Amino acid sequence: QPVAIVCVGMAGSGKTTFMQRINAYLHEKKDAPYVMNLDPAITHSPFQANIDIRDSVNYKKVMEEYKLGPNGGIMTSLNLFATKVDQVMNILEKRAAPDPANPAKKPISKILVDTPGQIEVFVWSASGTILLESLASSFPTVIAYIIDTPRCGSTSTFMSNMLYACSILYKMKLPMILVFNKADAKDPSFAKEWMTDYEAFQAALTEDENNNAFGGVEGEGGGSGYMGGLINSMSLMLEEFYAHLSVVGVSSLYGTGIDEFFEAVQDKAEEFKRDYQPELDRRR
Ligand code: GDP
Ligand code: MG
Repeated sequence: QPVAIVCVGMAGSGKTTFMQRINAYLHEKKDAPYVMNLDPAITHSPFQANIDIRDSVNYKKVMEEYKLGPNGGIMTSLNLFATKVDQVMNILEKRAAPDPANPAKKPISKILVDTPGQIEVFVWSASGTILLESLASSFPTVIAYIIDTPRCGSTSTFMSNMLYACSILYKMKLPMILVFNKADAKDPSFAKEWMTDYEAFQAALTEDENNNAFGGVEGEGGGSGYMGGLINSMSLMLEEFYAHLSVVGVSSLYGTGIDEFFEAVQDKAEEFKRDYQPELDRRR
């Protein structure tokens, strides 16, 4: 049974570049994946998708016809595409099973899904949910949450990113891998440290606070004032969240960390079968 990997993340975090990288990696390993592009607004795709939302919906026309702005256009395109989810699932299931007419043809082992640049449209829309739930009802499905590492170097941007990832986990209820992308531009080891060493994060907080990142009182250190108290409580909550995550640092540009990413995919696919599948079966 193939594993479905769904890439989500803020606009510009590198979802599409990451997709291109893992697609090329799997081709090199002679393990060609089945690739889906769900971003209707992309003008040129750096990888060849087997199923492309742009083949069935014209984003520009949708915007004109329904008099919508960019986000409304993406949302409506996704809604139109979601009406075909049964057809999409039929195709995927066929490619996942051995072909009796052609036994030499290997069934696919990975399904890769790219999502619209604006994360909200996919995560918080009915059609995004429908697409994701359909995938997860047929295949072990894992979320790859792509993070722009250079953009979360301060404790406040880091914390907001982690809280957002946590809300997505809570919404999607699927195993998640945090992918710290752009490792070539900023080494993600600081993030791993902050996620495993509470004291290290506290020390960074104090330092940022002293630099007035939160407008805190100079010299008072972490834990002072309203923000300090809030951040302390949030870090306790996040500790629990971190315990269930896989974390990898990659450079989609240069291809580092991709082996590690696929190891995490194996782990999370096992976790899906063990912890998530029984729950999904019960709900159905
Ligand atoms: P998306 O909106 O999440 O699909 O992001 P894109 O894949 O379009 O990438 C956004 C920008 O980040 C582009 O300019 C990419 O070249 C750049 N980018 C993506 N991955 C990396 C990386 O690993 N390292 C660096 N330095 N830049 C990257
Ligand atoms: Mg993209």
